[in-house]
Amino acid sequence: MSRNFESDRLKKIRNYDLRKDLDIAKEYAWEYLNNIHKRSVYPNQVDIDNIQEFSEELNEEPSSPTEIIKKLHKYGSPATVAQNSGRYFGFVCGAMLPSSIPAKWLADVWDQNPAIYVMSPTVSKIESIVEGWLIDLFKFNKECTIGYVGGSATATFAGLVTARNYLLSKKGYDPFNRGITDLPKVKVVVGEGVHSTVFKALSLSGMGYDNVIRVPMDQEGRMIFSELPELDDMTIVVAQAGHLSTGAFDPIKEICEKAQKAGAWVHVDGAFGLWARVDKRFNHLTVGLELADSWSVDGHKTLNAPYDNGMIICKHSKLLLDAMNVEGSYIIRSKFRDGMLFTPEMSRRARVIDLWSSLKGLGKNGLGDMIYEMHAKAKYFAQRLNDLGFEIMNEIHFNQIIVHYSSNDETLKLIELIQKSGVMWLGGSKWQGKNIIRISISSYKTTYEDIDMCIDDFESQMMQLLFSGNQNV
Ligand SMILES: *Cc1c(COP(=O)(O)O)cnc(C)c1O
Repeated sequence: MSRNFESDRLKKIRNYDLRKDLDIAKEYAWEYLNNIHKRSVYPNQVDIDNIQEFSEELNEEPSSPTEIIKKLHKYGSPATVAQNSGRYFGFVCGAMLPSSIPAKWLADVWDQNPAIYVMSPTVSKIESIVEGWLIDLFKFNKECTIGYVGGSATATFAGLVTARNYLLSKKGYDPFNRGITDLPKVKVVVGEGVHSTVFKALSLSGMGYDNVIRVPMDQEGRMIFSELPELDDMTIVVAQAGHLSTGAFDPIKEICEKAQKAGAWVHVDGAFGLWARVDKRFNHLTVGLELADSWSVDGHKTLNAPYDNGMIICKHSKLLLDAMNVEGSYIIRSKFRDGMLFTPEMSRRARVIDLWSSLKGLGKNGLGDMIYEMHAKAKYFAQRLNDLGFEIMNEIHFNQIIVHYSSNDETLKLIELIQKSGVMWLGGSKWQGKNIIRISISSYKTTYEDIDMCIDDFESQMMQLLFSGNQNV
């Protein structure tokens, strides 16, 4: 047989010695982490303008890994948003724990695909172990199972599809094989304060959201239990553990008890709040959470694991597996964990290594302390803002603070000034007709000194606003 094609270009790529580039990447990463507290939290305009350097035609000939990493660091790093710092309070994000970084790098070069056991016995094993740890940490029933997905949005999608298929199958239908176009409607109940990803999941799962029943919420964004409609065995209730602005938890115990009596399914969106379950100092929030049927939660928010770490947890393993099933003559099923049977995806990266290393790096007590600290620091931050004359618009249930300053207009201006100053980053929203500033304490890196520094910045920007206001007169 003739060996008639081999490209010189590829030969060079194949024979490339990566060692020095790994060293360069390590140096860059080290420098980045070391400087993250000193730089502006949001990149300045010059650095943002420089990302234009990436607007180029794809090169005809291969570039060297050295050239590539240098370019990425030179123009990419300065223009990143310092989320992996202690003064980023936007949305609900979280930084990245030290234990997860080297472990993730190693897992990156493993290049494993945990779709099925035979593709990666190691990752399959670690997925099972972390599943056990998490179910234990959340104090859920041992029958629960976990699918490792990209985030809570996907987790909620998987949870709602599982719920839908189960409710319909009890009535003798087979939505998995036959589809749902000519089937009876599933009734969906959500709170007014529900997260937008739930609506996306409802659309993707064919249930739509125009007909969803929205339960009015109280001052804190919680579903008002007495306003819940009649539930039946064709109903899915989506409850929330952690409102995106107030951090409040729906009255989940009451909701679950009512749902259980009716044969309805309860899915809990616990993207960041479910972690309150791991520490008994939050028992008052989390009582009854174990009564739900499925939960979505993120590793990349409160746990401070790297991004791309969501989990669908389902109390009824078989139902999740039935809903996520996939067949193919080339697929080798094992008696161990075949990851793709738990998620909408087939190929995935070994994201569980991020969770495993983050959890080990904290231990049970470190995890509890980290989460309780976020709460304590949120209370401190709120107290200091209150002393400055801000209106704190929520109770500090967990790690979220919403504040209003003076008037709607002034609040918006203040957000803009703070975002520009670079000391911290936070965003805004609307709450009860008022413009608000949203602050999420979800980075383990945030210190009391960081908060003091932010309070000083709040003060300077207020002065600035006052001064510019006077000038206009
Ligand atoms: C962040 C968040 C989501 C979406 O999670 P992703 O990980 O971004 O997909 C859903 N619900 C709540 C309450 C959230 O805070």
